[in-house]
Amino acid sequence: MSQKNIAASQKASQTKGKNKSAKDKRVHSVKGMRDFLENDQLLLEKIFDTFKELTRFYNYRLISTPIVEPLELFERSNGEQSDIVQKEMYQVKARGSSKKLGLRPEFTPSAVRAYIENGLTHQPHPVKLALYGPLFRHDKPQLGRYRQFHQADLEIFSTKNNPLYDAQIILASYRLFEAFKINDVIIQINSIGCKACRPNYVKQLAEYYKKNKKSACEDCKDRLPKNTLRLLDCKKEKCQELKSSVPMSLEHLCVECKTHFKSVLEFLEELGLPYNLNHTLVRGLDYYSKTVFEFTLEKTDANEKFQNLSLGGGGRYDYLVEHFGARHTPAVGVALGVDRIMDLIKERKLSITVRPKDKIFLIHIGELAKRKSLPLIEELRKSKIQIREALGKESLAAQLKIADKLGVKIALIFGQKEAFEDSVIIRDMKTGAQETVPLAKIAKVLKKRL
Ligand code: AMP
Repeated sequence: MSQKNIAASQKASQTKGKNKSAKDKRVHSVKGMRDFLENDQLLLEKIFDTFKELTRFYNYRLISTPIVEPLELFERSNGEQSDIVQKEMYQVKARGSSKKLGLRPEFTPSAVRAYIENGLTHQPHPVKLALYGPLFRHDKPQLGRYRQFHQADLEIFSTKNNPLYDAQIILASYRLFEAFKINDVIIQINSIGCKACRPNYVKQLAEYYKKNKKSACEDCKDRLPKNTLRLLDCKKEKCQELKSSVPMSLEHLCVECKTHFKSVLEFLEELGLPYNLNHTLVRGLDYYSKTVFEFTLEKTDANEKFQNLSLGGGGRYDYLVEHFGARHTPAVGVALGVDRIMDLIKERKLSITVRPKDKIFLIHIGELAKRKSLPLIEELRKSKIQIREALGKESLAAQLKIADKLGVKIALIFGQKEAFEDSVIIRDMKTGAQETVPLAKIAKVLKKRL
């Protein structure tokens, strides 16, 4: 564009801007996506921090993967017919590139890709991975359902499909809920069998639905030939009666799957974790095999709002690694819905400490004290002593008011005289007792007082 054209286009957009009302000039966040202001952001980080602590304890390795991945990764892992691929993926394309990319809608495919691509396949197994961060699904926004949301995710890759790992993943998830005083979680659990026994079950299921097609909703009629297992996921009122007497997958498991599932349940019983055998639980993705599970709240009136929202879910995916070209590697994973945990904490008004309480407030009086305050704060920072201040305010009363509001234990009073003599007054806010301390000793004295 020539200089002349640039100037003309700037002028045109300025004129256009002038005609817009102040309200029209605003840009809003994308529907279903939110800003997290300080308290929400602190709570989000608290959940991630607690998750990280748990993963350290249970020996998971924390990794992170890109938010953008080749679209093919999700198409090939989730199945072309899954809701995620069919309706919910955000596809992105760089200008000038023909590569099809997608914003990650979940972690498992990325974890599998990273596990293979980075040679973790050659490390001693089990390889336990932990991931957390934002994900994107073009879902219908409502309570507990956002278009950008967060998950905390665990994956275990092993040489054998040991039921112990299913139990360990469920246990760590349960402990995360407990850490946030959510103690009424029930583990919904089922087994959908393996390559050997599932086809027979799916056949029985298809026959059942064909026979009762009239009573099924339109979506289910459409899904029947494409993804029969998904029929069990239907939440529509019309299908509920039909669902109540469907053939059960547990009755069609092969011996190996039966033994595996029994063993998972025995581990859960040993740990005292509450579970419910849920024979309509299948989870909507192609890659699952054997154990599938979800975390829901106990059915009570108080939980009504969250009744149909699972707080997390996962299962075994013994064939996904080989599906992406590596050797056969059984695996199990879980994804916990961090936004739903946040919503629940807020709904229940649970008192979760998200920020350590401020303990010390610095009050300055006069120009010299103000000038010397910044180096004083830096000195204390070296000793890891956190200080609140209101250096932008001049009046003593205004500063005292803030200190009072924060409920600090100690006020440091830095007046003209103290600044001149390189000392500071330590005031106990509860008793009113005061002590003048040389600046050189302040960090040591404060550490003792705290
Ligand atoms: P999924 O990957 O669909 O099994 O989801 C695992 C967990 O992530 C769910 O149990 C929810 O807690 C959470 N989750 C899934 N989709 C959303 C969403 N759109 N908004 C908020 N949380 C979600």
